[in-house]
Amino acid sequence: MQSIPDIYFDYASTAPIHHEVIEATHTLLPQFYANPDSLHTLGYQVGDLMRISREKIASLLHVMPQMVIFTGSATEANNMAIKGAAFKNQHKGKHCITTKIEHSSVLNTFKQLQEYFGFEVDYLDVDAFGVLSYDQLKQSLRKDTILVSIMAINNEIGTIADIEQIKKIVKSSSSAILHVDFVQMLGKYPIDLNRIDLATFSAHKIGGLKGSGLLIRNTQVELMPLISGGQQEYSLRGGTSNTLANITFAKALRIALEKMVSEFSRIKEINDYLRSELTLIPQLDILTPQSGSAYILAFSYPSIPSEIMMNALSQRKIYVSAHSTCTSQSAYSHVHLAIGLKEHAANGVIRLSFGDQTTMNQAHRFIEVFKEIVKNGY
Ligand code: PLP
Repeated sequence: MQSIPDIYFDYASTAPIHHEVIEATHTLLPQFYANPDSLHTLGYQVGDLMRISREKIASLLHVMPQMVIFTGSATEANNMAIKGAAFKNQHKGKHCITTKIEHSSVLNTFKQLQEYFGFEVDYLDVDAFGVLSYDQLKQSLRKDTILVSIMAINNEIGTIADIEQIKKIVKSSSSAILHVDFVQMLGKYPIDLNRIDLATFSAHKIGGLKGSGLLIRNTQVELMPLISGGQQEYSLRGGTSNTLANITFAKALRIALEKMVSEFSRIKEINDYLRSELTLIPQLDILTPQSGSAYILAFSYPSIPSEIMMNALSQRKIYVSAHSTCTSQSAYSHVHLAIGLKEHAANGVIRLSFGDQTTMNQAHRFIEVFKEIVKNGY
């Protein structure tokens, strides 16, 4: 009997590691084990690979190499950006602005700043599609606003923020530092880092290894280091870094950017097909706006709770999420509540997310299986 192949629709949680990254890791791992800061030949060799990766990443993102800070994850980069900027600039003011639908690594960081360090934080509302009001952003900016943090693409429902508009508003009406979490946009849509002070990225969302994130920092922006230690990463992050994950980040990024345009149209076609088929199912509501990321398709089917649906799909070798994996243990997602979903609708959310190994055949099979579960139960 032929075995059914796995269908992985959970790229927003993490992407399969690109085979070139796996090959590079196999080649480099046994040989390049030295500490990149050691003052001997083996150390210099690893240090050189780190430098080359930093330079490649800088060139691919059109920034200067000294703006590239390697971290252990995007979660860490978000903490470094937000707490680092807030602590360093608190003499100028203690007011910050973010939105209600940020990733938990942003929201919980701001909550900590509020609860333990006396900062005041405004959480901007969003509409039913996760779109924030640019007027509300403008009105919220104050003389003492030191930091604005807004994500480029929402990881749960795929809403794309108008970063150009946000830049314009923040830069023309305040002197606040602008931080953008670009994790779900990297390698999928063009990114312009011009006039963005702090930008966050993660390797494992684009086929790189886990354990490597990036903070791109405008060098005019001063940060308080959160991890005090040695001179690594411009003394902003002490500790010997995850060199191989950082070295192969450049490769994963190059591959993702090279394929970005062709992948986009391929994935868009798959997403459009899924959207049109799912729309026909009674009581099913698509949550991702038409203008949202082609790589994410979230919907609510309240008749079957997410957990049961995910299980039923998983038994048929189809792997999806309900909401962010980082908050997968929570009953309700803050994003679903922020877009106004009632509890029963929030209970039935499924998020499909796509990437380079996603095919139209998989989409056909998904629809077939989903309809069968809806019709016959799980
Ligand atoms: N920001 C967004 C928008 C994300 O989707 C994620 C991961 O789900 C993160 C940050 C955190 O990334 P990492 O797993 O590298 O900490």
